[in-house]
Amino acid sequence: MKSAWADRDAAALVAHGAKSGVDADLALRVYTTRLLGRDPKLVLHGGGNTSVKSHMRDRLGEDVEVLRVKATGADMAMIEPAGLPAVRLAPMRRLRALDAVGDVELVGIERANLIDPAAPLPSVEMMLHAFLPQKFIDHTHATAVLSVVDQPDGEKKCADVFAGRLAFVPYVMPGFGLAKKAIDVFERSEPSDGLILSKHGIVTFGENAREAYERMIEMVSLAEDFIARSRKTVAAVAPVRNSAALADVAPIVRGACSVKDEKTEGAWRRLVVEFRTSDAIGQFVNGKDLGRLSQAGVVTPDHTIRTKNWPLVLPQPQPGKLGEFARLAREAAKAFTVRYHQYFETNNKRAGGIKHELDPLPRVVLVSGLGLFGLGRSKRDALIAADIAEAWVEGVGDAEAIGRFESISEADMFDCEYWPLEQAKLAPTLASSAGGGGLGRGLPLAGQIAAITGAGGAIGAATARAFAAAGADVALLDVNFSAAREQAEAIGPLALPVKCDVTEAASVRAAFDAVATAFGGVDIVVSNAGAAWQGRIGEVDEEILRKSFELNFYGHQRVAQAAIKIMLAQATGGCLLFNVSKQAVNPGANFGPYGLPKAALLALMRQYALDYGADGIRANAVNADRIRSGLLSADMIASRSKARGVSETDYMRGNLLGREVTADDVAQAFLHQALALKTTADVTTVDGGNIAAAMR
Ligand SMILES: [Zn+2]
Repeated sequence: MKSAWADRDAAALVAHGAKSGVDADLALRVYTTRLLGRDPKLVLHGGGNTSVKSHMRDRLGEDVEVLRVKATGADMAMIEPAGLPAVRLAPMRRLRALDAVGDVELVGIERANLIDPAAPLPSVEMMLHAFLPQKFIDHTHATAVLSVVDQPDGEKKCADVFAGRLAFVPYVMPGFGLAKKAIDVFERSEPSDGLILSKHGIVTFGENAREAYERMIEMVSLAEDFIARSRKTVAAVAPVRNSAALADVAPIVRGACSVKDEKTEGAWRRLVVEFRTSDAIGQFVNGKDLGRLSQAGVVTPDHTIRTKNWPLVLPQPQPGKLGEFARLAREAAKAFTVRYHQYFETNNKRAGGIKHELDPLPRVVLVSGLGLFGLGRSKRDALIAADIAEAWVEGVGDAEAIGRFESISEADMFDCEYWPLEQAKLAPTLASSAGGGGLGRGLPLAGQIAAITGAGGAIGAATARAFAAAGADVALLDVNFSAAREQAEAIGPLALPVKCDVTEAASVRAAFDAVATAFGGVDIVVSNAGAAWQGRIGEVDEEILRKSFELNFYGHQRVAQAAIKIMLAQATGGCLLFNVSKQAVNPGANFGPYGLPKAALLALMRQYALDYGADGIRANAVNADRIRSGLLSADMIASRSKARGVSETDYMRGNLLGREVTADDVAQAFLHQALALKTTADVTTVDGGNIAAAMR
């Protein structure tokens, strides 16, 4: 591992900070915190923390010694000065006289001593930074260090690897107790460059930002070199051949890792997935020690909130035998949740029965012959779980290559998983809102995946936005890929654009495979793509009628069939929504080529409701009219209003309510249908009132 320090970048940040009153110490603290945060071999997703001790003037102009420490859960890679709240140091240090401080009390004391009371709460490891005397302190969960220390003889290995330069702190749960233990060990040891926190991570010190940072790099490099030097030669695992396709396996895994919501009939608690594979993952999931290693526990305690303590392990899915795989996957997932419940019961008893059980679903699934899945309540959470699981595979693999991996005890894992200060990290933050569905957890469609066809157009795009805002992760399908991409980008980096020509069976299959591969499946499909053809029915060319049926009827049928296949594999129900348009109910003169397939589509929706109701799959339709879109362009509005001798505004408001109906109104109708768990075979009219088109 090499130092990424660059004098020019450091100087630029110092100069930039000076303009906004950020002193050089803080600017450099920000700089090296980002350097550490950018390397996934050092920290991942809000793990790790850094601090600097300095002086500042408080509101009354008095000089105060402060600790500026990373805010809890903040991402080091993107830290700003405001992400290092300032806490009065002297009162924090006096706490050392106490034997213990409760979590709530400690948070209260920290809050009371923030220079800016509105600043974010400091890291859960703040007291460690406060008690240690050095000016700059860096703390990471470097994978290589964990491989060395997560061993039955971790202390001895560390003494060898770091040549006594790091004092060894036995495992204590993060927080006040660890801070006390760390300062005791530090004071009893020779002058040291830092600390090893057993089964947890590494701390380095420095009198300036560069020294602390480069010591971290140096120490991690020592660990890396040791691993490379001491690695036992391991026989390469022969690749397992002939696993079923990921797009077919993922919905089964995702469905198995869902539970019925006991409070609401018809509702499920679902997760979104992120798949990973690599040589290291392949070695791990196909290796002979998978049974033991998969159950061996986390590499560092704070990973438990993202991955739980153990993954779900599934056998190889063989092509043509997916029914058998699905049965085994559901049994294994069920056993996982039963075991999780027992783990909770046992440890909660020990903790005094005060904890509330989290959902028992796995957050990591290892599939032999395939790879690993990270799972989360949104795609963003799934990505984090997958990143951490990959680091875990590497950390455990390297630990085994130089000895034998050993984690903390189950009781210690429970104490971290159910520590309120760790759980607080999972609360939605502004940072987690970037990316469509990222805010997901408390929203009505959290954990659900919606695919929308014709998403490059007005109604499709508005629907994708509405579903993302309701917490779903969304796939935007359109024959015009750049239109889909543009709309997806407007939603966020995790919204998925997919090219899909609904008139081609292969294109629809490929599009739904892409959705299942990216998210693990699909729960809601809004079949919206369409186009209008006209012609007097007695004279119209048959080719035109066929073209319209191809898009406006068969297109929906292909999309619905592709969705049904995934929904049945998930076995958690689902929802098909169709844009039938007013033409399905109230044909317009010379609009037969458009209205006839739309009328057939209305019947198609009812057929799906009838045939798949018992599978929990609902089918509904929206009958909308006169929406500004590709089907009703500005030119068409101009010519039609002119032909009728009314203004464009009056033309658009030509309905009983006298209100223009928008794409967002249609999107809200689809959203309502997606949420109405007891509604199927329904047509919702969104047209401002048109008696001739009213359902009867
Ligand atoms: Zn830590």
